[in-house]
Amino acid sequence: MKFSIHTYGCQMNVRDSDAVAAMLIHAGYQQAVTEDDADLIIVNSCSVRGKAEDKALGKLGLLCATKRERPDRKIGVMGCMAQRLGEKIFTKVPLLDFSVGTRRCAAIPKLVARVLNGEKNIFEISDVEAQPDVPDSHNESGHCAFVTILLGCNRRCAYCIVPDVRGPELSRPAREILAEITELASQGIREVTLLGQSVMNYGLRNQVWEKDDPASTGGYHEPFTRLLEAVAAIPGICRIRFTSGHPSGCTDELVRAMSTLPQICHHLHLPFQAGSNRILKLMRRGYTREMYLDAINRLRTAMPDFSLTTDVIVGFPGESESDFEETRSLMEVANFDNAFIFKYSPRPGTPAAEMDDDVTEAEKMRRNQVLLADQDIRGQRNNEALIDTVQEVLVDGPSLRNTERWSGRTPGNKIAVFTPTATLRPGTLARIRIVRAAPQTLYGEILD
Ligand code: SAM
Ligand code: SF4
Repeated sequence: MKFSIHTYGCQMNVRDSDAVAAMLIHAGYQQAVTEDDADLIIVNSCSVRGKAEDKALGKLGLLCATKRERPDRKIGVMGCMAQRLGEKIFTKVPLLDFSVGTRRCAAIPKLVARVLNGEKNIFEISDVEAQPDVPDSHNESGHCAFVTILLGCNRRCAYCIVPDVRGPELSRPAREILAEITELASQGIREVTLLGQSVMNYGLRNQVWEKDDPASTGGYHEPFTRLLEAVAAIPGICRIRFTSGHPSGCTDELVRAMSTLPQICHHLHLPFQAGSNRILKLMRRGYTREMYLDAINRLRTAMPDFSLTTDVIVGFPGESESDFEETRSLMEVANFDNAFIFKYSPRPGTPAAEMDDDVTEAEKMRRNQVLLADQDIRGQRNNEALIDTVQEVLVDGPSLRNTERWSGRTPGNKIAVFTPTATLRPGTLARIRIVRAAPQTLYGEILD
């Protein structure tokens, strides 16, 4: 039996899909080369915006329609939308075979076995407060891996559904994470990205370090920086990233760890969401524009080559033209290297859904376009400043567009394209001189 998993949403979902793939392979199933070829298809769904749910539901509808020609084909859903809709999903997609919530993905192999025994419309969705499954199996084919270190979120930003569908914050024991990364390193993984919604909150709500765990050699006291130091000490791991950040986590210790531990990439994805203090307060983000700028100034002072990316929402309820202009100006002052710009989408049950969604769709679209155009100019300017510099890239392999050329990522998480030497192998670190720049891509010549 061949399976395929179609993933929507964030890196957390990418990681969950990877773990489920590893569990299914362990249970004796085979990964299909194409979706067409698959006897079992699982959609890993996202709930963050209404559009994301529409896409997943549309995809499930299309997949279930293929059962007319392939009656034996099984279709399942997992992830945030499955959690949010519960049993109701079967009224929207009646031919769906199974549905699994965010904290129960380890149940999937068993559910598949039940479906193959003829059961239909089965689901395993626990309360989001329940102890979650944290599978540590991996199936990555390259040399980079995601490792979830913190599940759920306690912040409850006014617009966000994540705390409702992924539950409260829970940090994994440090020992468990370090064992997982040691195993990944032994299999050839060179870069790890530590995942959590507010990742620097690691170990602030529950104990993660045991008394007999080795003490920090660099004098780190915060649970997250201690973890960074311990991951950096694992032989074979040459790059460490973490996402998503929150300004409150940009402590002096974090700045010290990032600027002194050579394995930690000088890049942070630090969503700011809005540039006006009035909107930030309505969003319940827990910081002001000034606090955000202070955090990034401290990071940049310690690391002049620091690269910064972000998320921003346009058209939050009550966002006036002058609030929007403050978002625009903050983006220029912060000088982001890249930005993901989202149009506000009301999510059922969140505090913002009670507010008047008074910015029209056309105006949200206009604001989105304005920020994208600004960011293109900024991305071009920042990347041009790297021309003639030498960048270290972790080599991915042939680029998607032109297989004659290869690509890799710089420590700043920028894609760099170059012509490979005959002996170059994916997964190695190479030095390239940047010769040309586009808003989202660097082009270079390989030095060694
Ligand atoms: N935990 C991260 C943080 O605090 O920024 C990100 C979580 S969320 C999965 C990813 C992004 O989706 C957010 O940064 C935000 O920009 C966007 N987002 C979340 N809820 C949204 C909504 N209701 N409408 C539009 N965008 C939303
Ligand atoms: Fe959502 Fe805010 Fe938590 Fe991020 S920090 S997941 S935006 S509630």
